[in-house]
Order: sequence, then C-alpha cells, then structure tokens
Amino acid sequence: MVATFHNHTTFCDGKNTPREMVEYAIENGARAIGFSSHGYTPYDLRYCMKDTDSYIAEINRLKIEFKDKIEVYLGIEEDAFAPVDRSKFDYTIGSMHYIEKGGVYYPIDSSIDYNNKMRLAFDYDAIKIATQYYEKFITYIKTRKPDIIGHFDLITKFDEKAESLFLDNQEYHLLAQKYLDSLLPVDSIFEINVGAIVRGYRTKPYPYTNLLHKINKQGGKIILSIDAHSKELLTYDFTDTIKYLKDIGFSSVYTIKDGKFVKENI
Ligand SMILES: [Zn+2]
Ligand SMILES: [Zn+2]
Repeated sequence: MVATFHNHTTFCDGKNTPREMVEYAIENGARAIGFSSHGYTPYDLRYCMKDTDSYIAEINRLKIEFKDKIEVYLGIEEDAFAPVDRSKFDYTIGSMHYIEKGGVYYPIDSSIDYNNKMRLAFDYDAIKIATQYYEKFITYIKTRKPDIIGHFDLITKFDEKAESLFLDNQEYHLLAQKYLDSLLPVDSIFEINVGAIVRGYRTKPYPYTNLLHKINKQGGKIILSIDAHSKELLTYDFTDTIKYLKDIGFSSVYTIKDGKFVKENI
C-alpha cells in the first residue's frame, strides 16, 4: 500500500474517522498516512472542517498511540480563498475549489449540477472560466507556497461526464500550459490526484497529460494522492498510474518520511 497524504475524515466530508483510517492503513501494511481536512471556508460550510482544534488534537493523539506501527501526519487542505494558520500542521495542500463571481462562490468539484451553475454564470465560456480559475490559483500558489499543489486542473473534473468544455479545446490547453509555465520552476510539489478516477468521473489523474509532460521537462516534483474520503480507497492500486508517469518520463515521486519530504524512485 502506497503512503498517501491527501485524505479526508469525518472531521470534514469524509466517511470514516481518523482512527478507522489509521487502523485500516496499518492492517494493509502502510508505512505512513497523512490527513488533510478541508480548512474552514466561511462561504461554504458543507465540506469544510468546523472544529479544527479537535481535529488537531485527535491526529496528534493517533500519532503517539500508533507511533510504533505507522507514521501519522497532520496536514490541511487549504482553499485558495481561505488561508489558514499553518503553524500547527506538518504540511499544507493548497487547492482551488471555487470560482468567485459577484460575491458568489461557485463550487467547482462538488457535483455536475453545481458545476453547471458555474458554467452558466460564465456563459459557458471555457476561456473566461479557465482564466479566472488559473489567475487566482497561480497568485495563491506564488504567495502562499503550499507544500503540495492540490489537483492543479480541477476545473476539468466533469469534462468526461458533462458537456466537455476544456479537454477538447485546444485554446484551453494552451492557456493552462501558459499558466503552468508561469509557475515553473516552483518548489511546491504537484500532486498526481486519482480522486476523480476512483469516483468514476475521469480516466486520468490531475494534472492532465500535457501538463505532466511540462512539469517533467522542467524538473517539477510530484507526489501520489488518492484524495480518499473513505478508508477502503487507501488501498488504491497505483500500478497503472506509475506506469503512466514513467511513460511520461518521471523517475521519482515525493513522499513524507521521518517528517521530511523525500524523493523515492519509481
Ligand atoms: Zn480538494
Ligand atoms: Zn481533498
């Protein structure tokens, strides 16, 4: 089982408690597990963590209780619109989950219905949506420098299941590549996020293949993420993903070991 660090629990929108996740990871031979509850987002209380102090206390408790069996890490998934106090966390995943227009925060990834509301608000204009999304996200990454960049091109999530706006659009690809270029070289690690594959929305992880080629060419760093919202997903088989990454040219991924980000050959 691959050690992964983008995982959610009942403290936000996950199905299992941290303890259930840790016990499951131990049963399946994991070396480490990291938690990344959604930081508090006052503009949308459905998915975020409401009791950050209890979350911190519980993960720190599990760290000690299971220290002989598994490395447990306390992370947070910070939304680009809601910076959090990072001082108590081992690492931060920086993610963009909303597009804001006229004071309304449109969720990008919660459902096809919500995604359609966002598309409608932007007159189904892929370039307008993508520009708004990447401008905000790139500025956030440059200023907040998260350890890990969460699902870089999340706006493409429903492209395979709803009407395609982005992935069939060459203009979109050029725009996304331009924004990625403006970011590289960046020290943050790009996550290879298979969350939408396990939920049946996509056949490829984020970021999309052409962006991965660019990240690889420019010596960017990557880390494997499941974005698990239930314990069973922790045993996700990364064999195909690793083959895909090797075919692109990657020879290593990052992980957290003994409290530090380190490189591992694949
Ligand atoms: Zn996310
Ligand atoms: Zn997440």
